[in-house]
Amino acid sequence: MYNITKEFSFCASHSLKHLPMDHPCSRLHGHNYIVIVELQSTQLDDKGMVVDYRKLDLIKSYIDNHFDHNHLNDVMEESPTAENLAKLIFEYFYKTYPKLIAVTVKETPKTAARYSPLFDTVHRIDGKTLAETINKEKRDD
Ligand SMILES: [Zn+2]
Repeated sequence: MYNITKEFSFCASHSLKHLPMDHPCSRLHGHNYIVIVELQSTQLDDKGMVVDYRKLDLIKSYIDNHFDHNHLNDVMEESPTAENLAKLIFEYFYKTYPKLIAVTVKETPKTAARYSPLFDTVHRIDGKTLAETINKEKRDD
């Protein structure tokens, strides 16, 4: 199995309003966010790659346009936690990049939230889930 990752960064503010008033994250503050996308494949393409890193530039554009120097509470429907941000980015891109298996969002050097849908991650084979692969093999018999 081949795995690649690419890292992106942006700056943004948020406040987590569902937390108690005395929790520091309930106050307006900012982070230098790191976003790490992971792609996986059992086979390499004819260039010896999982995906050309340059093909991931769309992710940089999306992050820059939607999140960079923004207030995340204004641009996200869900509470702007690292967890929800990871899921949002994954769901925006999994159809564009079928080999995408996880998105990690770091708010600080020591914390990370990784979103990865269980079925697709564990059982995905060349963009298909295990169930899809088995069903195809059954049809081919
Ligand atoms: Zn925060």
